[in-house]
Amino acid sequence: MSNWQELEHKYLMHTVERLPVTLVRGEGARVWDDNGKEYLDFVAGWAVNSLGHCHPAVAEAVTEQVHTLIQTSNQFYTIPQLQLAELLVQNSCLDKVFFCNSGAEATEGAVKLARRYGKLKLNGAYEVITTLNSFHGRTLAMTAATGQPKFQEPYLPLPIGFINVAYNNIEAIKAATTNQTCAVMLEPIQGEGGVNLPGDDYLSAVRAWCDQKGILFILDEIQTGIGRTGTLFAYEQYGIEPDIMALAKGLGSGLPIGAILAKEGASVFAPGEHGSTFGGNPVACAAAYATLKFILDHDIAGNARKVGQYLTTGLQGLKKKFQFITDVRGRGLLVAVELSSEMAPSVVMACLERGLLLNRVKPNALRFMPPLIIGNKEVDRALDILDKVLSSVGKEVVK
Ligand SMILES: *Cc1c(COP(=O)(O)O)cnc(C)c1O
Repeated sequence: MSNWQELEHKYLMHTVERLPVTLVRGEGARVWDDNGKEYLDFVAGWAVNSLGHCHPAVAEAVTEQVHTLIQTSNQFYTIPQLQLAELLVQNSCLDKVFFCNSGAEATEGAVKLARRYGKLKLNGAYEVITTLNSFHGRTLAMTAATGQPKFQEPYLPLPIGFINVAYNNIEAIKAATTNQTCAVMLEPIQGEGGVNLPGDDYLSAVRAWCDQKGILFILDEIQTGIGRTGTLFAYEQYGIEPDIMALAKGLGSGLPIGAILAKEGASVFAPGEHGSTFGGNPVACAAAYATLKFILDHDIAGNARKVGQYLTTGLQGLKKKFQFITDVRGRGLLVAVELSSEMAPSVVMACLERGLLLNRVKPNALRFMPPLIIGNKEVDRALDILDKVLSSVGKEVVK
């Protein structure tokens, strides 16, 4: 055990089972550990390093900003925040932005915004309908929004006002809607739940229902947004527009930043009703501006779509070869492989040994979410490692 692992054991709260690797450096889609071993990174900080590690455009923007102005508070205008807000609005269907520091803060803030809307326009309606197997973050309220008992049970009782219903089931949303409902909140594609895709008409049916009832439709695009699924935002592929959208993860390509975006009519916060000390700070906004600008100027979403298709085709090839692969699904560079048994942890460990970082999204499913700047060459290398690992791990399964 390295010294670092001993320090972790001694000083950190044990909230995560870490893999036995200490990463010290990254460049593009590659990272290195403290022994100098190289890995191909198909986790990307949980879909965060959209431009890969230490991308020059991001590194330069951050460096310049930390030498210019790091933090001021939101009592003052700061330029990176305004430039980023303009770029987000110009490239989305939404009109107004609030910046925060993480995904959970963005969804939590989106729910607060929907509750304000409910108070002002819907006779005090406050309930938010969310889906089973969703993931919206780790604050107490977002734990209630996240429809997964394993996250909820340790913290019961949870804040009220959230109703978790089956995903991909418009009738379940209709049945849960009451005169207390102010919003429906969904991930367009469920990420942590296992990369679960919506049925063809699901999101448009939810949109139509929200319109019919006069309630808000919140999309949590924290994982799917910023090019990950092959368009800048996933909603573009489903022919709908949300009233409110939450962003974080890939927005800063590694710097912590979140955002709530809303249509003009849903943008009902008044001064003092919501806030953040660090939200929209110049350094995070400079990183996000550089990230978004690069993604737009170089059609990185298009790259994610093309390379994602290449990855999916390769994984479908492996599915033909290994009968314990039961499903390959995803959009762009957010892809999952479902396995017939709970072998994902051992596949992840064996890939790690061979120099590939992969995520185990469920005990029986792997998730692929590499940087959006990769090409077919990196996919070939990942598929080659995975093929070898599945050949040897697969022998155990068959036994
Ligand atoms: C990761 C994630 C969150 C939470 O983001 P944090 O930055 O960890 O708080 C919320 N929603 C979705 C869809 C996510 O993938």
